[in-house]
Amino acid sequence: MNLSSKVALVTGASRGIGRAVAVELARQGAEVFCTSTKAGGCDETLEAIAALENDVDAHALVCNVSDSESVEALAKGVLDEKGKLDFLINNAGITRDGLFLRMSNDDFDDVINTNLRGAFLVCRAFARSMAKARTGRMINIGSVVGSTGNAGQANYAASKAGLLGLTKSLAQELAGRNVTSNVIAPGFIETDMTASLPDNVKTEMLKLIPLSRFGQAQDVAQAVAFLCSDAAAYITGQTLAVDGGMTMS
Ligand code: NDP
Repeated sequence: MNLSSKVALVTGASRGIGRAVAVELARQGAEVFCTSTKAGGCDETLEAIAALENDVDAHALVCNVSDSESVEALAKGVLDEKGKLDFLINNAGITRDGLFLRMSNDDFDDVINTNLRGAFLVCRAFARSMAKARTGRMINIGSVVGSTGNAGQANYAASKAGLLGLTKSLAQELAGRNVTSNVIAPGFIETDMTASLPDNVKTEMLKLIPLSRFGQAQDVAQAVAFLCSDAAAYITGQTLAVDGGMTMS
Protein backbone atom coordinates (compact mmCIF):
# COMPACT_ATOMS: atom_id res chain seq x y z
CA MET A 1 0.00 0.00 0.00
CA ASN A 2 1.27 3.44 -0.82
CA LEU A 3 -0.49 6.20 1.06
CA SER A 4 2.10 8.90 0.41
CA SER A 5 0.76 12.42 -0.24
CA LYS A 6 -2.35 11.48 1.76
CA VAL A 7 -3.41 13.20 4.99
CA ALA A 8 -4.99 11.20 7.83
CA LEU A 9 -6.59 12.08 11.16
CA VAL A 10 -6.79 9.49 13.93
CA THR A 11 -8.79 10.41 17.02
CA GLY A 12 -7.69 8.85 20.29
CA ALA A 13 -4.21 8.09 18.97
CA SER A 14 -2.41 8.33 22.31
CA ARG A 15 -2.37 4.56 22.89
CA GLY A 16 -3.89 1.22 21.96
CA ILE A 17 -5.64 0.81 18.64
CA GLY A 18 -5.46 4.51 17.74
CA ARG A 19 -1.70 4.59 18.17
CA ALA A 20 -1.25 1.44 16.07
CA VAL A 21 -3.46 2.91 13.34
CA ALA A 22 -1.54 6.20 13.29
CA VAL A 23 1.81 4.41 13.10
CA GLU A 24 0.60 2.01 10.38
CA LEU A 25 -0.78 4.82 8.20
CA ALA A 26 2.49 6.70 8.65
CA ARG A 27 4.41 3.53 7.76
CA GLN A 28 2.45 3.45 4.50
CA GLY A 29 3.46 7.06 3.84
CA ALA A 30 0.49 9.14 5.03
CA GLU A 31 0.95 12.37 6.99
CA VAL A 32 -0.91 11.80 10.24
CA PHE A 33 -2.69 14.09 12.70
CA CYS A 34 -3.06 12.35 16.07
CA THR A 35 -5.42 13.46 18.84
CA SER A 36 -5.64 13.02 22.57
CA THR A 37 -7.63 14.90 25.21
CA LYS A 38 -4.34 15.79 26.89
CA ALA A 39 -1.42 17.95 25.78
CA GLY A 40 1.53 15.61 25.31
CA GLY A 41 -0.81 12.61 25.19
CA CYS A 42 0.41 11.59 21.73
CA ASP A 43 4.14 12.05 22.43
CA GLU A 44 4.88 8.32 22.37
CA THR A 45 2.88 7.90 19.17
CA LEU A 46 4.89 10.66 17.49
CA GLU A 47 8.10 9.02 18.73
CA ALA A 48 7.02 5.70 17.21
CA ILE A 49 6.31 7.42 13.91
CA ALA A 50 9.67 9.23 13.98
CA ALA A 51 11.34 5.85 14.59
CA LEU A 52 10.03 4.66 11.21
CA GLU A 53 12.64 6.99 9.68
CA ASN A 54 10.61 7.41 6.50
CA ASP A 55 10.37 11.22 6.65
CA VAL A 56 6.63 11.23 7.14
CA ASP A 57 5.20 14.24 9.00
CA ALA A 58 3.09 13.63 12.09
CA HIS A 59 1.31 16.10 14.35
CA ALA A 60 -0.40 15.99 17.73
CA LEU A 61 -3.55 17.96 18.46
CA VAL A 62 -5.65 18.17 21.61
CA CYS A 63 -9.33 17.43 21.10
CA ASN A 64 -12.27 16.24 23.14
CA VAL A 65 -14.44 14.63 20.48
CA SER A 66 -17.62 15.01 22.53
CA ASP A 67 -17.20 18.80 22.55
CA SER A 68 -18.45 20.56 19.44
CA GLU A 69 -16.16 23.59 19.78
CA SER A 70 -13.13 21.40 20.33
CA VAL A 71 -13.95 19.40 17.20
CA GLU A 72 -14.50 22.53 15.10
CA ALA A 73 -11.12 23.85 16.25
CA LEU A 74 -9.54 20.50 15.32
CA ALA A 75 -11.01 20.61 11.82
CA LYS A 76 -9.93 24.21 11.35
CA GLY A 77 -6.41 23.31 12.48
CA VAL A 78 -6.09 20.41 10.03
CA LEU A 79 -7.80 22.08 7.07
CA ASP A 80 -6.01 25.42 7.52
CA GLU A 81 -2.68 23.63 7.53
CA LYS A 82 -3.20 20.99 4.83
CA GLY A 83 -6.27 22.20 2.91
CA LYS A 84 -7.70 18.67 2.84
CA LEU A 85 -8.22 15.45 4.75
CA ASP A 86 -8.08 12.13 2.91
CA PHE A 87 -8.66 9.65 5.76
CA LEU A 88 -10.70 10.20 8.90
CA ILE A 89 -10.41 7.48 11.52
CA ASN A 90 -12.89 7.91 14.36
CA ASN A 91 -11.23 5.73 16.99
CA ALA A 92 -11.70 7.64 20.26
CA GLY A 93 -13.85 5.60 22.60
CA ILE A 94 -14.56 4.83 26.23
CA THR A 95 -16.34 2.22 28.32
CA ARG A 96 -18.36 2.72 31.51
CA ASP A 97 -19.49 -0.86 32.06
CA GLY A 98 -22.22 -1.82 34.49
CA LEU A 99 -25.36 -3.88 34.73
CA PHE A 100 -28.31 -2.19 33.09
CA LEU A 101 -30.49 -1.96 36.20
CA ARG A 102 -27.76 -0.01 37.96
CA MET A 103 -26.54 2.08 35.03
CA SER A 104 -26.45 5.80 35.83
CA ASN A 105 -27.51 8.58 33.47
CA ASP A 106 -23.93 9.84 33.48
CA ASP A 107 -22.48 6.47 32.49
CA PHE A 108 -24.94 6.22 29.62
CA ASP A 109 -24.46 9.81 28.46
CA ASP A 110 -20.66 9.82 28.71
CA VAL A 111 -20.33 6.74 26.51
CA ILE A 112 -22.86 7.93 23.93
CA ASN A 113 -21.33 11.41 23.87
CA THR A 114 -17.80 10.15 23.26
CA ASN A 115 -18.37 7.11 21.07
CA LEU A 116 -21.36 8.16 18.97
CA ARG A 117 -21.81 11.93 19.22
CA GLY A 118 -18.04 12.31 18.95
CA ALA A 119 -17.96 10.40 15.65
CA PHE A 120 -20.92 12.44 14.39
CA LEU A 121 -19.22 15.73 15.25
CA VAL A 122 -15.90 14.77 13.67
CA CYS A 123 -17.50 13.35 10.50
CA ARG A 124 -19.61 16.50 10.13
CA ALA A 125 -16.60 18.75 10.63
CA PHE A 126 -14.77 17.15 7.69
CA ALA A 127 -17.61 15.96 5.42
CA ARG A 128 -17.94 19.22 3.49
CA SER A 129 -14.22 19.35 2.72
CA MET A 130 -14.19 15.71 1.57
CA ALA A 131 -17.34 16.18 -0.53
CA LYS A 132 -15.83 19.25 -2.17
CA ALA A 133 -12.61 17.38 -2.91
CA ARG A 134 -14.66 14.46 -4.27
CA THR A 135 -12.51 12.02 -2.35
CA GLY A 136 -12.29 10.74 1.19
CA ARG A 137 -12.48 7.72 3.45
CA MET A 138 -14.31 7.78 6.76
CA ILE A 139 -13.60 4.82 9.01
CA ASN A 140 -15.44 4.47 12.29
CA ILE A 141 -14.10 2.05 14.87
CA GLY A 142 -17.13 0.19 16.15
CA SER A 143 -17.20 -3.10 18.00
CA VAL A 144 -18.66 -6.53 17.48
CA VAL A 145 -20.94 -5.80 20.46
CA GLY A 146 -22.63 -3.12 18.32
CA SER A 147 -24.22 -6.03 16.47
CA THR A 148 -24.41 -8.67 19.17
CA GLY A 149 -25.05 -6.61 22.33
CA ASN A 150 -23.21 -7.50 25.53
CA ALA A 151 -24.37 -7.95 29.10
CA GLY A 152 -22.90 -5.16 31.20
CA GLN A 153 -22.32 -2.90 28.22
CA ALA A 154 -25.77 -1.57 27.24
CA ASN A 155 -24.40 1.96 26.91
CA TYR A 156 -21.33 0.90 24.93
CA ALA A 157 -23.19 -1.54 22.67
CA ALA A 158 -25.83 1.13 21.96
CA SER A 159 -23.12 3.64 21.04
CA LYS A 160 -21.44 1.18 18.68
CA ALA A 161 -24.79 0.11 17.14
CA GLY A 162 -25.50 3.79 16.56
CA LEU A 163 -22.22 4.06 14.66
CA LEU A 164 -23.49 1.46 12.19
CA GLY A 165 -26.53 3.60 11.33
CA LEU A 166 -24.44 6.76 11.18
CA THR A 167 -21.88 5.11 8.91
CA LYS A 168 -24.40 3.61 6.48
CA SER A 169 -26.33 6.89 6.24
CA LEU A 170 -23.12 8.81 5.55
CA ALA A 171 -22.14 6.20 2.97
CA GLN A 172 -25.41 6.82 1.14
CA GLU A 173 -25.27 10.61 1.37
CA LEU A 174 -21.64 10.95 0.33
CA ALA A 175 -21.23 8.16 -2.24
CA GLY A 176 -22.09 10.58 -5.04
CA ARG A 177 -19.06 12.60 -3.97
CA ASN A 178 -16.75 9.56 -3.98
CA VAL A 179 -16.47 9.60 -0.18
CA THR A 180 -16.72 6.17 1.43
CA SER A 181 -17.77 5.40 4.98
CA ASN A 182 -17.20 2.08 6.73
CA VAL A 183 -17.03 0.52 10.18
CA ILE A 184 -14.29 -1.70 11.50
CA ALA A 185 -15.65 -3.82 14.32
CA PRO A 186 -12.88 -5.23 16.50
CA GLY A 187 -13.51 -8.20 18.77
CA PHE A 188 -11.27 -8.59 21.82
CA ILE A 189 -8.10 -6.57 21.31
CA GLU A 190 -5.35 -6.44 23.94
CA THR A 191 -5.17 -2.76 24.98
CA ASP A 192 -5.60 -0.71 28.17
CA MET A 193 -9.36 -0.91 27.59
CA THR A 194 -9.41 -4.70 28.02
CA ALA A 195 -6.43 -5.08 30.38
CA SER A 196 -8.52 -4.77 33.55
CA LEU A 197 -10.93 -7.58 32.69
CA PRO A 198 -10.65 -10.46 35.18
CA ASP A 199 -8.65 -13.50 34.05
CA ASN A 200 -11.66 -15.81 34.24
CA VAL A 201 -13.57 -13.54 31.83
CA LYS A 202 -10.60 -13.53 29.46
CA THR A 203 -10.35 -17.32 29.61
CA GLU A 204 -14.03 -17.68 28.70
CA MET A 205 -13.71 -15.15 25.87
CA LEU A 206 -10.72 -16.95 24.39
CA LYS A 207 -12.85 -20.09 24.03
CA LEU A 208 -15.19 -18.10 21.73
CA ILE A 209 -12.43 -17.07 19.31
CA PRO A 210 -11.91 -19.62 16.49
CA LEU A 211 -8.41 -18.29 15.75
CA SER A 212 -7.53 -19.03 19.41
CA ARG A 213 -5.80 -15.76 20.25
CA PHE A 214 -6.73 -12.28 21.35
CA GLY A 215 -6.39 -9.57 18.74
CA GLN A 216 -3.57 -7.05 18.71
CA ALA A 217 -3.93 -3.37 17.89
CA GLN A 218 -1.86 -4.04 14.78
CA ASP A 219 -4.55 -6.45 13.49
CA VAL A 220 -6.99 -3.53 13.48
CA ALA A 221 -4.44 -1.08 12.10
CA GLN A 222 -3.82 -3.24 9.05
CA ALA A 223 -7.55 -3.43 8.31
CA VAL A 224 -7.76 0.37 8.56
CA ALA A 225 -4.82 0.75 6.17
CA PHE A 226 -6.59 -1.56 3.71
CA LEU A 227 -9.78 0.51 3.83
CA CYS A 228 -7.69 3.63 3.18
CA SER A 229 -5.95 2.07 0.20
CA ASP A 230 -6.91 2.20 -3.48
CA ALA A 231 -7.76 -1.49 -3.18
CA ALA A 232 -10.83 -0.57 -1.08
CA ALA A 233 -12.17 2.16 -3.39
CA TYR A 234 -15.38 0.23 -4.14
CA ILE A 235 -16.23 -0.64 -0.52
CA THR A 236 -18.70 1.59 1.32
CA GLY A 237 -21.40 1.23 3.97
CA GLN A 238 -19.83 -1.99 5.25
CA THR A 239 -18.79 -3.40 8.59
CA LEU A 240 -15.55 -5.35 8.67
CA ALA A 241 -15.17 -7.47 11.80
CA VAL A 242 -11.58 -7.94 13.01
CA ASP A 243 -12.30 -10.51 15.68
CA GLY A 244 -10.55 -13.80 14.94
CA GLY A 245 -13.88 -15.25 13.82
CA MET A 246 -15.66 -14.58 17.14
CA THR A 247 -18.73 -13.34 15.28
CA MET A 248 -19.68 -14.59 11.85
CA SER A 249 -22.60 -13.32 9.85
P1 NDP B 1 -7.89 2.83 24.84
O1 NDP B 1 -8.66 3.03 26.10
O2 NDP B 1 -6.59 2.15 24.90
O3 NDP B 1 -7.69 4.26 24.11
C1 NDP B 1 -8.78 5.13 23.96
C2 NDP B 1 -8.37 6.36 23.21
O4 NDP B 1 -9.53 7.23 23.09
C3 NDP B 1 -7.29 7.14 23.91
O5 NDP B 1 -6.37 7.61 22.95
C4 NDP B 1 -8.05 8.33 24.51
O6 NDP B 1 -7.26 9.50 24.53
C5 NDP B 1 -9.16 8.53 23.49
N1 NDP B 1 -10.31 9.23 24.06
C6 NDP B 1 -11.09 8.85 25.09
N2 NDP B 1 -12.04 9.77 25.32
C7 NDP B 1 -11.87 10.76 24.40
C8 NDP B 1 -12.54 11.96 24.09
N3 NDP B 1 -13.61 12.40 24.79
N4 NDP B 1 -12.09 12.72 23.07
C9 NDP B 1 -11.01 12.33 22.36
N5 NDP B 1 -10.32 11.19 22.59
C10 NDP B 1 -10.76 10.42 23.61
O7 NDP B 1 -8.89 2.08 23.86
P2 NDP B 1 -8.65 1.01 22.68
O8 NDP B 1 -7.44 1.35 21.93
O9 NDP B 1 -8.82 -0.34 23.23
O10 NDP B 1 -9.95 1.31 21.79
C11 NDP B 1 -9.95 2.17 20.68
C12 NDP B 1 -11.30 2.07 19.97
O11 NDP B 1 -11.54 0.71 19.62
C13 NDP B 1 -12.47 2.50 20.84
O12 NDP B 1 -13.43 3.15 20.04
C14 NDP B 1 -13.02 1.18 21.34
O13 NDP B 1 -14.39 1.27 21.66
C15 NDP B 1 -12.79 0.29 20.14
N6 NDP B 1 -12.76 -1.12 20.45
C16 NDP B 1 -11.79 -1.66 21.27
C17 NDP B 1 -11.81 -3.01 21.54
C18 NDP B 1 -10.78 -3.67 22.43
O14 NDP B 1 -10.91 -4.89 22.64
N7 NDP B 1 -9.78 -2.97 22.92
C19 NDP B 1 -12.84 -3.89 20.98
C20 NDP B 1 -13.79 -3.23 20.15
C21 NDP B 1 -13.74 -1.90 19.89
P3 NDP B 1 -6.64 10.20 25.88
O15 NDP B 1 -6.99 9.35 27.05
O16 NDP B 1 -5.20 10.30 25.60
O17 NDP B 1 -7.31 11.52 25.90
